[in-house]
Amino acid sequence: MKPAEAKPPHMDHDTFRSLGHQAIDWIADYWQHLADRPVAPLVEPGTVRAQLPTTPPEYGEDFPALLSDLERIVLPGLLHWQHPRFFGYFPANASGPAVLAELLSAGLGVQGMNWNTSPACTEVEQQMLDWFVHLLGLPEHFRGGGVIQDTASSAVLVALLTALHRASAGRTRDHGTGECGYRVYLTAETHSAARKAAVITGLGLRAVCEVATDADGAMDAADLAARIQADLAAGLTPLMVVATRGTTSDLSFDPLEDIGPVCRRHGVWLHVDAAYAGVAAVCDELHWVNDGVRYADSYCTNPHKWLLTNFDCDLLWVADPEALVNALSVLPAYLRNPASESGRVTDYRHWQVPLGRRFRALKLWSVLRWYGAEGLRSHIRTGVRHARLFADLVREDDRFTLLAPATLGLVTFRHAGSDTDNRNLLHAINAEGTTFLTHSEKNGTFFLRFATGGTHTEDHHVHEAWRAVQNAVQNAVPRAQHATDGTADALNG
Ligand SMILES: *Cc1c(COP(=O)(O)O)cnc(C)c1O
Repeated sequence: MKPAEAKPPHMDHDTFRSLGHQAIDWIADYWQHLADRPVAPLVEPGTVRAQLPTTPPEYGEDFPALLSDLERIVLPGLLHWQHPRFFGYFPANASGPAVLAELLSAGLGVQGMNWNTSPACTEVEQQMLDWFVHLLGLPEHFRGGGVIQDTASSAVLVALLTALHRASAGRTRDHGTGECGYRVYLTAETHSAARKAAVITGLGLRAVCEVATDADGAMDAADLAARIQADLAAGLTPLMVVATRGTTSDLSFDPLEDIGPVCRRHGVWLHVDAAYAGVAAVCDELHWVNDGVRYADSYCTNPHKWLLTNFDCDLLWVADPEALVNALSVLPAYLRNPASESGRVTDYRHWQVPLGRRFRALKLWSVLRWYGAEGLRSHIRTGVRHARLFADLVREDDRFTLLAPATLGLVTFRHAGSDTDNRNLLHAINAEGTTFLTHSEKNGTFFLRFATGGTHTEDHHVHEAWRAVQNAVQNAVPRAQHATDGTADALNG
């Protein structure tokens, strides 16, 4: 582009239109041919960056130049999360309707911090959250108490801030947490985001109390009760229990029916993290994932994992929204307005850590309208079926052991060899490129995780992934280890 123009070189509307078509074409091509690419990148640290110029461009360039660098520099440096044979971590699935609505949201470019800064942004979001109360069979008292957060990590942080506010009768807002002796209860299996929230709030890790788990990794409610009693006797203040419905490592479910009454008895805030599993409750037969949620003071689940809504989108409900607003509202003069002062509107900036907020509800609305509840159920059921299919293949091969029956969309398994053999196996599977799996540990023993739920995953992709696992055994595990040596049994001992 010409140097020294008097006006900034904004993209005119017609150019935007035609380049926009190119960008959509680019995404469609990417998705369509994704199965032909290796799932995981084979790059050394620093190689992507080394391909970028050392200084920014002085004069503007054409947009297609960016698209070609996307192809040349970026794609080889990506782990392809939307690949139909991506089975790592938990899915973070995107879908056509979600991505189009995300683009629309970007085009609208609204800031929904207050109701009056875009009434529709707030009200569509309120309606979506109420729709989800219905869709997931959540307690009716959550109606009107829902908000979209970026992530489950923010959800637990906001919940903890509100619990602090409630427990201190408002004092922590002005004076901080000080030496109040607050205690936060969780388990070894609780997501690290809860510990991080303890750090961010200033409670520190010393406020965190790890409750025992049973053989399945679920929180032991009797141990929780005993620890709360002991802390009370020691003059400490039980503040919050973080319970998980579907832990990240291997999907254990903390028993809310037992934990809830303990929390009620002592006035302890119960936060329920169902980031991955909660959305499965769209299916009647999977309603159990949210059993006991009626005890929750706060509850969250992520459509950005298994519900076809691209990152980021976490749904948080609180039983008492007023407590949340009181905990987080700080009102500068420049945001005062008659609508807020009328008390008739919701200003979502008080429901989250940042001030500004995107119109995330648009992509949820788009996903719900495109798929309908039935379409979402069918997607979840496909993921469950794929997990069972893979588990059956593992079960039929006596070199492998399932750690547990496949639950929802996760299969946890290991080869009969040593931990080192299993590590080498995982490395070989992922290096080959056909598929991508991740790992975790239980009682110090390494295992492999196979998580289904990809938007474009079909049965044959599951079979192809299993074949890749079997090929990797031939190459990565010494022959002598192919026979069962009993290590897997030690896991349950
Ligand atoms: C994935 C996950 C999280 C973290 O999710 P973010 O939204 O990325 O913060 C928290 N808890 C559980 C149980 C998870 O599976």
